[in-house]
Amino acid sequence: MPRKKIIAGNWKMNLTPKKAEEFVTDMKAKLDTDKVEVVLCVPYVSLHAVQSVLKGSNIKVGAQNMHYMDKGAYTGEISGEMLADMGIPYAIIGHSERREYFAESDTQVNIKSLKALKTGITPIICIGETLKQRMSERTFCVISKQLSIAVDGMTADDIAKIVIAYEPIWAIGTGKVATPEQAEEVCAAIRKQIGEKFGQGAADAVRILYGGSVTADNANTLFKMPNIDGGLVGGASLQPTFEKVVHFE
Ligand code: PEP
Repeated sequence: MPRKKIIAGNWKMNLTPKKAEEFVTDMKAKLDTDKVEVVLCVPYVSLHAVQSVLKGSNIKVGAQNMHYMDKGAYTGEISGEMLADMGIPYAIIGHSERREYFAESDTQVNIKSLKALKTGITPIICIGETLKQRMSERTFCVISKQLSIAVDGMTADDIAKIVIAYEPIWAIGTGKVATPEQAEEVCAAIRKQIGEKFGQGAADAVRILYGGSVTADNANTLFKMPNIDGGLVGGASLQPTFEKVVHFE
């Protein structure tokens, strides 16, 4: 079965709930399609407002993080159980900004991803190399390690449910997009590694996204590569041109 592409927007810490509501009210009809899965990962405080506006459409709402415990003394955190109770189907896990500014480790990414699966939330697991690592030809080694820790303890069935986002850190928010060949090469390596550990069925089913300075101008060439099943889009997901990213074909 062909993999359905996903175009996920990562709003990061942008838009107040009111502005979020206005933005999605304006964009709803333009982004509503069943050709690809559109997911808007919005700040926690805007989840409810955005979800209400998008009710009845095909557009899904996601969170940008979640805690791995169900509840307890974790001031300021939000659990997967809370998100699931709201009917939130996706959560980004291990975005490079969380790894960099909040010291999220590969192990935490793994525990959060396992918890997301247990809670019925699809984790969009982010992995990616720094410019220094790429320049010193360590890209594949770094990606392989991040991936193997992230999926530790998962089954082949779990793998078919998760989404992996290959996001080279040097391309995030920089305007320096990976070439389709660079992105494809790493996404193919990710799929190969999944196949070696979980079998061909899991490798064929898992959806692998590219993220890093995707725009309406480069989406088509990136997303038509055989191992790239769509994108995780930051800056451009807050622009009216996001419509063109979604309808990249
Ligand atoms: C991101 O936030 O995951 C991202 C890829 O950002 P941008 O598209 O702005 O590079």
